[in-house]
Amino acid sequence: MQFRNFKMVDYVVYGRGAFNQLDEIIAPHRKGDFPMIFFLDHYFIGKPLASRIPLRGKDKIVYVDVTHEPKTKQVDALAADLKAEFGEVSGIIGIGGGSAMDLAKAVSLMMTNPGSSADYQGWDLVKVPGVYKVGVPTLSGTGAEVSRTTVLTGPVRKLGMNSDHTPFNQIVLDPELCKNVPANQRFYTGMDCYIHCIESLEGTFLNEFSKSYGEKALELCRKIFVEKESWDEESDDQLMMASYAGGMSIAYSQVGVAHAVSYGLSYLLGTKHGIGNCIVMNHLEEYYPAGVKEFKFMVEKNKIEIPIGICADLTEEQFDAMIDVSLGMKPLWENALGKDWESIMTREKLRALYGKL
Ligand code: NAD
Ligand code: ZN
Repeated sequence: MQFRNFKMVDYVVYGRGAFNQLDEIIAPHRKGDFPMIFFLDHYFIGKPLASRIPLRGKDKIVYVDVTHEPKTKQVDALAADLKAEFGEVSGIIGIGGGSAMDLAKAVSLMMTNPGSSADYQGWDLVKVPGVYKVGVPTLSGTGAEVSRTTVLTGPVRKLGMNSDHTPFNQIVLDPELCKNVPANQRFYTGMDCYIHCIESLEGTFLNEFSKSYGEKALELCRKIFVEKESWDEESDDQLMMASYAGGMSIAYSQVGVAHAVSYGLSYLLGTKHGIGNCIVMNHLEEYYPAGVKEFKFMVEKNKIEIPIGICADLTEEQFDAMIDVSLGMKPLWENALGKDWESIMTREKLRALYGKL
């Protein structure tokens, strides 16, 4: 038995107002007069957070467009622009949801690794450490702040750059930054965390390490989305820690059916991660009966609409494309269904599931 020796985030600071420490935290990582580059989610254009960024010297704020989920082309262009403008940079600080954080991770790696980010979509293909990178979530749930991947849509696949060089060197967890997230978005991204927990806890890769984090994250999700009558500051504090613990849980296990199927949707239709997982989870009673029942309760209690019928008008070629992307996620299926997964999740079975969405 070979146990995974996984790389974690180097430094973590947590607390309301922790963002104010960013200047001091990144100072020792400045290399001469090479700038720190702040990838700020475009939601914050003109918002107070933009003026709180600790700019020094040639530092620059780059507003990242997260209308669509990160693409390899976008990552390559951002890295090329930075190389053209500055040659080298001291570091990249991603501030935003999973999309802005993933862009920061990927561009950090592409500042030092040759070729295109598409060359590194897979497991352990990245060989050179990136530049110093910091993640600052402003939306909780994905676990992108702790994970060893950055999820990218490329020319032929939607797949992360999974590697020991991918985790952030530093994360700044400041729940105050999440205070204005709209309720729908908060729910979709929050459910990403809930689904990570269910997939991890119900998976075949589970061990006590994953279970300890997964159970804690699930408990927090339940407090927030099942028990509480309304959203408060404590909910933001709790969801930020749930996201962290959910991410730690899958670090030693994997996600499962909802993610494997939702990757196909997002590759073909551009469906965003959080809502895509919700659309799929709605139909997974066969795999996660208790989780799906509770999920449906949370949807109703929080008065959220989950789209249905999104695959109604697709052609067989399109279904095939989604099935190819989904079945390519081998570790996810193996975690969900065991070593024999290929005989359980046949193309026909997956076609039928996509048909229901
Ligand atoms: P997101 O980053 O795509 O953001 C969703 C929306 O919320 C955007 O419009 C954004 O501008 C807005 N937003 C962000 N912060 C806000 C704030 N404080 N107030 C108001 N609006 C705000 O959403 P997400 O669900 O956090 O991330 C999804 C992305 O994360 C996907 O690209 C997915 O592939 C990726 N992901 C990565 C990992 C990983 O381990 N690397 C894990 C899960 C998901
Ligand atoms: Zn996810």
